Amino acid sequence: MVKNKIYCRLCNSGDTRRIGNYIHCNNCSFGFIYNIKNTYFEKSARIYLPKILSNILERSNINNIKKRLTKIERLTSKGKILDIGCAGGTFLKIAKERGWETYGIEPFKQEFIKAKEVIGNVENVKLEDYNTNTKFDVITLFDVIEHFESLEPLSKINKLLKEGGLLVVSCMDASSLNFRLTGKRWSCYQENQHFNYFNKKTMKLLFKNLDLIHTHIENNKLKHFISYPFYFIFFLITLKKIAPLWDNRMYFLKKNVK
Ligand SMILES: [Zn+2]
Repeated sequence: MVKNKIYCRLCNSGDTRRIGNYIHCNNCSFGFIYNIKNTYFEKSARIYLPKILSNILERSNINNIKKRLTKIERLTSKGKILDIGCAGGTFLKIAKERGWETYGIEPFKQEFIKAKEVIGNVENVKLEDYNTNTKFDVITLFDVIEHFESLEPLSKINKLLKEGGLLVVSCMDASSLNFRLTGKRWSCYQENQHFNYFNKKTMKLLFKNLDLIHTHIENNKLKHFISYPFYFIFFLITLKKIAPLWDNRMYFLKKNVK
């Protein structure tokens, strides 16, 4: 019996290999989940950390957001910003305080309700169902691109961006040493909610397909290095939600001015 070929979700090549439910493309090195069973929207079990630890994490999150905004503000002037997958709206709240006109979309109901209280301009939709005539100066996707069941809706980003507009993406890095060492035990490997496993090369290919010009990538190499001892401690105690924070990259892209 001839097995059905599985085509790469990113480059369309039929040269793929299957490891359980994980598909690796031999042509472009993209990885993806084949039989998607999305339980992301059912997540209700949250990790409750001791107050002192959650305060530290919250403060570090706010500091990270401020650093991200400072970087964005160095690249473009303040205007309309859309955060795709804005979660509880913390990023947009801080952006608003700094003078940005903020918009968000969040498909997860519980997070959407929180974000709505904080910033108002939020819709409870997925990117493919988001209808607007607004064009944005900046669009951000922080740790959400791995959740897309299909890459097709991402083509909408180009239409939503103004000419010369900026796209900022952060994403877990499937070429990280952690992934290579731990394979499917990697804390970011979650078949029920992470369906796309990008590395630097495949991200660039995605942006090329989206007709966006890549400006620069932030690797966080030093941060990775420093984080390893912590990573292994967290790995051991399986606080899987925390470890991925260090295993990602940030990408900055511009839309062409025609
Ligand atoms: Zn491919």
